[in-house]
Amino acid sequence: MRVLVLNCGSQSVRLQVIETSPELAAANADQVLAKGSVERLGSAQTALRLDAPHRPPVRRACATADHRAALELAFALLAETGLQVSEIEAVGHRVVHGGERFVRSTRIDAEVEAEIEACAALAPLHNPPNLKGYRASRALLPHAPQVAVFDTAFHQTMPAAAYLYGLPWELYTEQRIRRYGFHGTAHRYLSFRYAQIQGRPEREFKLITCHLGNGCSVCAIEGGRSVDTSMGLTPLEGLVMGTRGGDLDPGVLLHLLATGVCRPEELPALLNQRSGLWGLSGLSNDMRDLLEAAAEGNARAETAIEVFCHRVRRYVGAYTALLNGADALIFSAGIGENAPAVRARICRKLDALGIRLDEEKNLACRGEEADLSGGGGTRVWVIPAHEELMIARETAACLLG
Ligand code: AMP
Repeated sequence: MRVLVLNCGSQSVRLQVIETSPELAAANADQVLAKGSVERLGSAQTALRLDAPHRPPVRRACATADHRAALELAFALLAETGLQVSEIEAVGHRVVHGGERFVRSTRIDAEVEAEIEACAALAPLHNPPNLKGYRASRALLPHAPQVAVFDTAFHQTMPAAAYLYGLPWELYTEQRIRRYGFHGTAHRYLSFRYAQIQGRPEREFKLITCHLGNGCSVCAIEGGRSVDTSMGLTPLEGLVMGTRGGDLDPGVLLHLLATGVCRPEELPALLNQRSGLWGLSGLSNDMRDLLEAAAEGNARAETAIEVFCHRVRRYVGAYTALLNGADALIFSAGIGENAPAVRARICRKLDALGIRLDEEKNLACRGEEADLSGGGGTRVWVIPAHEELMIARETAACLLG
């Protein structure tokens, strides 16, 4: 089945065309036919990129008004590479928040659309552009069924002990304040792929998966089901990230407000854009810059990296305890795949947990699947993130039953 995968943000559209089916997924033989992005939507300088195998890369800049215009432009470029939109058989949409309503990927109809809209209260920055992308693609591809693949769905298997905050009960029952978790599609792919590499069913494994990119989260997975994850009601909880600080004593916010250091309306920017690696280092949210600066003696960059790794270690320890031992620790996404120095710091002195890294294999591994285990009982692996592939597979599986 030829699936168009769409990931629509407020000012960007990312897309891939993937040939997949349950049989191709089982053989890991799905094919990415094209990938592209439209950035700075709504500006006079919208940037378009499209890459297809055996084709020269396409780079263009022009004006676009909205998601529909962006998709029209992208489809015209796809046609130039020989991919006709009439051949797209289904569209898979990344939808960030599915609340408690969506426990799996779901074909979108009017009722589902209304429920995604209702979930926007929990993800006001993400669900509305996801819906704009859906409406644009429905208008432009009326022949193709559309499927929503939720970031939160994989974590709906978490037990109440993991998803409830220690807050008044009514905040959960009346306001749906609880932990939902994100990056679910990415963690799910790591579980599926690890079992596939091992040639054994997912139900046999206990895994700790670390998605370390600009956004970061850890997941404890038992038998292919998420049992805990580091992000919460929103993607602000958990690890230190590029520009988000992760776990925080809520008293810090009360203190900032009470002392007038921060006004309420300043908190979203403080927590989403000015914290994390960026806030700590005062230099960059990019781990590459920080590793370089630390090597040149920049003490704040060094501290930022240390705080980042310390937090991951804390979660690895906690999840090893929750799982009563893990079969594998898996690193993924930009930092997890490409930064041996960070992986080494995270795994340092974790022998007691059975986690031992082979230094040479670790140094050699950048951006590819690899077993980095150095002989402990918990294997250490790198598996590159492939969220879009998982969205395409979920879309095909949802439609083909
Ligand atoms: P992602 O969100 O998965 O694209 O990851 C983005 C982050 O990965 C960037 O902000 C960088 O900090 C990090 N990254 C990418 N390549 C490298 C690398 N070679 N070394 C260290 N960090 C990297």
